[in-house]
Formats: sequence, C-alpha cells, structure tokens
Amino acid sequence: MRLVLIAPPGAGKGTQAARIAARFGVPHIATGDLLRGHVRQGTPLGRAARASMDAGALVPDRIVRDMVGEAMAHAKAAGVGYVLDGYPRTRAQARAVHRTAAGIGMTPHVALHLRVDDEEAVRRMLARAAAEHRPDDTESVIRRRLKLYHEVTRPVVEGYAERGILVSVDGTGTADQVTARVLERLEEPAWPTICTPPLLSRPATVEPAATPGLMTGCST
Ligand code: ADP
Repeated sequence: MRLVLIAPPGAGKGTQAARIAARFGVPHIATGDLLRGHVRQGTPLGRAARASMDAGALVPDRIVRDMVGEAMAHAKAAGVGYVLDGYPRTRAQARAVHRTAAGIGMTPHVALHLRVDDEEAVRRMLARAAAEHRPDDTESVIRRRLKLYHEVTRPVVEGYAERGILVSVDGTGTADQVTARVLERLEEPAWPTICTPPLLSRPATVEPAATPGLMTGCST
C-alpha cells in the first residue's frame, strides 16, 4: 500500500493515517510530526522550520522534500509501502514527490482525501489546542492554515483526481466511523483498475489478484 493523505488541518488525518498504516503494515510518514521532532530536538532543520510552523505557513519545500525522500528510501529498502501524511501540500510538492517516488518505483496507488468543513475543522483544532498545546493551534493561526489549505493544497486534490487515483471520504463523525469508511473504500476489490496501463491491459483470462490491487501491482 502506497498512499498519500490529503486533508485540511483539523480533519484528523494524523489519527487516520496511523490506523491505515497499521492496517496495511507500512510506515506512517507524517511531515508535521517529523518537523515537530526536529524542532523539539533543536536540530538545524528544526531551527530552519520553526518560524514558518509557528506562523501557520509552509516550511521551505527543500526541507520537506529531503525529509520525505529519505523516509521513502527507507520504506523502499524495507520492501514496504507507506502512508504519507501532510505531503504533498502544493502542486510543486506533488511534482517533486512524483519525481522522487518514480525514481525508486514507489509512486502512490491512492490519494486519500478527507473532507471536513472549515467550522468543524476549527472546532476540532481549538479542542486539540486545549489538550496538546500545539503552538500553531491558536485561532488566528488555524484560520491561516485553513486559508492556505484552500489556496494551495486543494489544487493537489484535483491533480490526483485527474490522475485517477483519488479516493474522497467524508471525514465527519467519530474517528472510528471515519476509519470504517476509509478502510471500506481501500479494501474494495475493484482496486486493480487504478493500476497503470500495463496492468490494465493484461489479458482478460488472467485471474484477478487474490489480494486487492492496492497490495499488489503498480510498480512505478
Ligand atoms: P496540519 O495539517 O494540521 O496543519 P501538520 O502536523 O500536518 O498539521 O503540519 C504542521 C505544520 O508543519 C504546517 O502548518 C507546516 O508549517 C509544516 N508542514 C507540514 N507538512 C508540510 C509540507 N508538506 N510542506 C511545508 N510545510 C509543512
């Protein structure tokens, strides 16, 4: 399973990504968590990223690209897929991740989009702020992150729809309800149709894969 997860801030993508990763036995690569880890440890990367993160802005592309490239190379070496959470967030990042992934035969099978409206997202983030004290969970920064999502990340969702790998799921309700909805979609046996042309054009006599297409095929 190689999946990218795209959702507005506050949609619960971290929770869902971790569950999907566990279900399919692949690493959960979360750019926000990786960056927060660097900030906590005071690494040069963390120092470079901190101001943007606290302001609800995107950190420079190069930083995130290298971090994701490294994590993806590890997944490749381990012979597994990935759940990529928080990347790509811009069209430029989508092009970059495609280049990196294609270079090592690791392009995504699925782009999962969780839909949550802005008011619900704000409500969830303010609730989280009380519990977790994330410095970017103040109302003004939250509004900025949402605006950025609509302006630069939504077009990435459309790009994946054009590519034919978009799965869009309603992200409202409890975390368990959303997980059930997501897994139902990801486990649909019809998935081989999302594979690239060589698989689509295999002879009709070939038996469908015993496991869903997401777990097989699609090598580039
Ligand atoms: P959320 O999606 O709720 O905003 P994340 O934990 O995914 O939270 O990201 C937190 C912050 O980390 C972002 O606001 C941004 O500053 C930075 N970040 C995460 N992913 C990226 C990315 N792909 N490109 C640039 N900045 C990123």
